[in-house]
Amino acid sequence: MPASIAMGPEGLRVPDEPIVPFIEGDGTGPDIWAAAVRVFDTAVEQAYGGRRRLAWKEVLAGEKAFHETGDWLPPATLEAFREHLVGIKGPLTTPVGGGIRSLNVAVRQVLDLYACVRPVRWYRGVPSPVRHPERVDMVIFRENTEDVYSGMELEAGSPGVRRLLDFLRDEFGWEIRPDSGVGLKPISETGTRRLVRAALRYALDQGRRSVTLVHKGNIMKFTEGAFRTWGYRVAEEEFGDRTVAWEDCGGEPGDRLPVKDAIADAFLQQVLTRPEEHDVIATMNLNGDYLSDALAAQVGGIGIAPGGNINYETGHAVFEATHGTAPRYAGQDRVNPGSVILSGVMLLRYLGWAEAAAGIEAALEATIASGVVTYDFARLTEGATEVGTSAFASAVIERL
Ligand code: NAP
Repeated sequence: MPASIAMGPEGLRVPDEPIVPFIEGDGTGPDIWAAAVRVFDTAVEQAYGGRRRLAWKEVLAGEKAFHETGDWLPPATLEAFREHLVGIKGPLTTPVGGGIRSLNVAVRQVLDLYACVRPVRWYRGVPSPVRHPERVDMVIFRENTEDVYSGMELEAGSPGVRRLLDFLRDEFGWEIRPDSGVGLKPISETGTRRLVRAALRYALDQGRRSVTLVHKGNIMKFTEGAFRTWGYRVAEEEFGDRTVAWEDCGGEPGDRLPVKDAIADAFLQQVLTRPEEHDVIATMNLNGDYLSDALAAQVGGIGIAPGGNINYETGHAVFEATHGTAPRYAGQDRVNPGSVILSGVMLLRYLGWAEAAAGIEAALEATIASGVVTYDFARLTEGATEVGTSAFASAVIERL
């Protein structure tokens, strides 16, 4: 019987037939979803022999929702994610000039999905611009609710910005050019602690090698610098017996998880030159945005990079393709479904269905390694066999 996933004191309670809401997405979303869902269902069937099944429930958002209901993000959709806890979505068009800034941001804000989790690793056969993409194996925890990215901005010349500039001059003596736009960058102890706590817990549970706090605290002391301070404090106060600050251990962490920090600009160099030295990363919104795409590019995975937005306290999670709707390929059965497929792998792992997740990951890697790829990889790979979206999914299923 299909039933809702629930959050209990011991963590997620997942029935054998969990109801999982999905948004197929706009543009190429329907092509990708149709392909990906076949992979998920077959993998679960094979891993659990019919004992477990995902009970998909379609919910609407984006263009399809607008055409059917007049609403870009109907309340019923948010309600479904709220009730069933864990869902997945394809890419959504950002309505230009609409009331909603971004549907993705709206979903994250309403459910307070504070951690954007992006695993970045290389799969055999994926064309990469670097010589040793196999050395990259990192998981980025990007704070999702604060920072300059959170939308608190005033337009240059607007009455609001004039009032703010007057206030800042009168109260703080800060002279800011009158034709400036202004954005706020709040970083709170609450927001930092829960994000870093999630990264530490993940690293400890998964037996990862280290956690690095990435910041620009040398310049922005009370925001980025405070993130670093609070981050170390969570490690010490809440995980003190299992973690150690790298600076305090003289390079000998023993069996404890080392916690380090790095300045964002230097860190972007280090992940290119010495990627094997970094593992789990915890950072704020804007740094995390740049890092996620830079690292994904390093493993050639910008078209297949998965992501999840998670609130570890309530259990709410929405896994998603990290690319956009690629509208010019819509309906052509052409684009790479890898990002949604690997987002599904993250979802399965989050549910604790590790066998099905591992099966898909191995089959996807074997497919790409055999040279069967969609156009985006085919154009970068000599001797590849180019296939469409649905044929790629079939090739993965054959290898499950
Ligand atoms: P995009 O849709 O990601 O497409 C940019 C380019 O990336 C495509 O032209 C294609 O490159 C490549 N690409 C994207 N997805 C691919 C896939 N599955 N397989 C192979 N190649 C893929 O970015 P955009 O054109 O800037 O944005 C289009 C719409 O998507 C906008 O409305 C934007 O707001 C929205 N968007 C949504 C999300 C989201 O829902 N998470 C994220 C970003 C953007 P080539 O043409 O070179 O092959």
